Order: sequence, then structure tokens, then C-alpha cells
Amino acid sequence: MKFTFTIPKIVSVTAFLLMISCSTLAPKVTDADINAEAKKEYEKVKAQSRRSNNAAWTAMVQRVAQRIAVASGEHFEWEVVLLENKEPNAWCMPGGKMAVYTGIMPILKTEGALAAVLGHEVAHATRRHGKEKLARGMQQQMAGALLGLGAGVIASQFCQTENCRTLTKLGGALGGLGIAFFNLKYDRGNESEADEYGQVYMARAGYDPAESIKLWERMGAAMGGKAPPEWMSTHPSDANRRARLLALMPNAEAEYAHAPQRFGTGETIP
Ligand SMILES: [Zn+2]
Repeated sequence: MKFTFTIPKIVSVTAFLLMISCSTLAPKVTDADINAEAKKEYEKVKAQSRRSNNAAWTAMVQRVAQRIAVASGEHFEWEVVLLENKEPNAWCMPGGKMAVYTGIMPILKTEGALAAVLGHEVAHATRRHGKEKLARGMQQQMAGALLGLGAGVIASQFCQTENCRTLTKLGGALGGLGIAFFNLKYDRGNESEADEYGQVYMARAGYDPAESIKLWERMGAAMGGKAPPEWMSTHPSDANRRARLLALMPNAEAEYAHAPQRFGTGETIP
């Protein structure tokens, strides 16, 4: 017998080697690489989305995002848009590219709660949590590409969000970081860290950190079984996470006391 390798074995060995090279390669990817890639994907998402024409909400989103960005101390090319979308969601890509969906605004009820959500999302970016998602995304997409799946098949079988499906089709089967960003969850440790840093950012930005806890109660009541937004969809139970935010309050209160300006809960969102 000449051939000891069967075709499936060759494919799986190649897939395995590629996965190894991807997972060792990913940590060498620099911030600049990731941020440049995120910026491209952000432009695609914006081109495919509709901006809100609610001037009051847009102004609020702009000022809160700007204050959180300053409070984080990070020198990103910050940008935020308010998109017309019924989903109660918000996100910040690596490098500081943010979006808030109109669907989350009435649930938040206060500007301070918006600061809590953006604080959490910005913390994922400043703590470089996207890098790990990118590594996992590369592995999954490489596996898909090796099996010869087209963009449409990957979009339908792998993507769970509209933004992932859009980017997959626009970018082909091996589209960039955006697909991993929109489709994969952060792990438990990343979520806890985003809660902790996010609460500090909102307090430094001048918003009462107690809103981070009230936000949980409002969202919990409003969601009622629907798919939760990124910052809520995590592994630790809601009660644990709320308890942890409460335990972190003394530190956040101290940050709030030293904030250059204090806005309390900010304006009410009608
Ligand atoms: Zn999160």
C-alpha cells in the first residue's frame, strides 16, 4: 500500500496545523493591526445601517461617549453613531469605534444608565478583549474555509447576528475581525473586568455609579425572555453580577467624588 494518508486525514491534519498556526499567530497581531481592521469593518457596518434622526438622543450619545472616552485615558480614534435598530444594544469595537442602537434608549431611562452601558463596552476595547475573540474567530473561519464553504454557508451556519451576516457576505468567507467581533461572546473573566472598569469610567466621567445597578433592574424587567444585549448576555448569573457591582460601589463612589464635573443621573430619556 503506497498511500497511508486518506483524504479526510490530510484535510484534518491540515486543519489542525492551520489552527495551531492561527492560535500562535494571533497573540503577535498588534493593536495597530486590529484597530485598522476594526475601522474597516466599522465603515462597512455604518454603510449598511441607518442613522437615527433623533437629534436629542444623538446629542446625548455623543456627549456621553466623549466623556467616557476621556475618562478611560485611552488615546483611540474615538467615534460613535446612533443607529436606527430595534435591538436594545450597544458596542465598542477595538480601537474605540462605538455604536448605540435606538432600541436601547427608552429602556435605559437615564443618561447615567447610558454611561454605564458605554463604560462597559469601552472597557472591553481598552482592556483588549477583542484580541481573544479574533483568535477564536480565525480558527473557526479557517476550519470553514478548509471545508470549502462559501460566504453564504458560513453566514447561515456560523453567524448569529445581522452584522455578522452582513460582513460575511461583504467580505467573503474569510472576512475580517468584524465577523468574530459580532458573533462571538466575551468570556466570564472579560465580562467581570468590563463591569469593573466600566463602573469606574462612568464615575470618572461624572455619572452616579449607582445607575450601573439600576440599569440591571430596568433591563431585566424590559427584556422578559428576549435575547439580551452584549453586556447582559454573560455566563455569571444576574444575581452574582449585580452583587459584584454592588461590592465595587465604594471604589466607584470615591472616583465619582473626585470627578471634575458631576451630572448625577443626567437627563431623563423620554
Ligand atoms: Zn460585555
